[in-house]
Amino acid sequence: MMIPTIPTPDEILDKGFSRGKKAADLLRTQKIPKHLKGKKIEERRVVTACQVIKDKLKSILDAVPEIEELHPFYQDYIDITVGVDSMKQALGALNWAYGILAQLEREYSRKFKRTPSERASSIQREAYGRIASVVNKIEKDLDFLDFAKSKLRNMPTIDFEATTIVIAGFPNVGKSTLLRQISGADPQVADYPFTTKGIQIGHTERHWKSIQIIDTPGLLDRPVLEMNDIELNAIVALEHLADAILFIFDGSETCGFHLESQYNLLKQIEKIFGEIPIIYLFNKMDIEQDKEYINQFVDDPENTLFISALDGEGIDKINEIINR
Ligand code: GDP
Repeated sequence: MMIPTIPTPDEILDKGFSRGKKAADLLRTQKIPKHLKGKKIEERRVVTACQVIKDKLKSILDAVPEIEELHPFYQDYIDITVGVDSMKQALGALNWAYGILAQLEREYSRKFKRTPSERASSIQREAYGRIASVVNKIEKDLDFLDFAKSKLRNMPTIDFEATTIVIAGFPNVGKSTLLRQISGADPQVADYPFTTKGIQIGHTERHWKSIQIIDTPGLLDRPVLEMNDIELNAIVALEHLADAILFIFDGSETCGFHLESQYNLLKQIEKIFGEIPIIYLFNKMDIEQDKEYINQFVDDPENTLFISALDGEGIDKINEIINR
């Protein structure tokens, strides 16, 4: 998500006050009746400072998209990564500061009009004190937005129009090999909560329809029962996207896991993804395998394929099932 560079309160105040000074200095050379000059200068200083600081806050608020208007996947993603409530709170605080500054701007404009020029600089100091106090009050909110910016910098780019296939299965069964085999070119690698290697997204096209294949190493490759609530939420976010799941078995067991454990993982994933159709793939068929043994783990022959991701054997059939 595009969050702009977030300044510190000091940076905001420095900019506002120095621009205020410049604007005030410009007035000094102008012809203004003597009794008005002092207060005009100080009024300009305060009003300019307020406006510059308001503009800065507004540019941040305008650049951050409305969270409610984002696709549910991104809403969940932001919630898991930094927390939607915290995000709203921080943006709310900036909005609050903007309102108070607008109020101060009006209040002091009026005040300078009623004040003799001799008192103008003490009013100006009072105004600057209040401006500084408002901006300093949102320090933790600016900090939070800066943190959110770095956390959300490498969010996955999702094509919500495409048919989306999510890959699951134990480590080393051939998930990333398959992803590359189907989608060819280098997949997009983005951050995904609770995955060490991030999320990998490959794209392909079939009969003019875009297909997007997602692998989440570290998430859908281990027992779901061991996961905490937040990790489960990371899976729920994927549910918003998945049109189908490709569950990969390694019948050769060269991945280091028995088919029995692989089957148990499948059962957990089936539970989580509920209604979403699953395509069952038995990979590494280029290695000699015991068909009778494997067949014990085939629940749904219609949606089961025997493939070799390495050789590209059976990949066409996957595309056929996806497009069914
Ligand atoms: P992932 O951890 O599930 O993503 O698994 P990888 O795609 O990284 O594959 C793990 C290992 O299995 C790698 O050494 C692959 O080359 C190998 N592998 C993947 N698919 C096949 C296959 O169809 N046949 C054989 N023989 N090896 C495979």
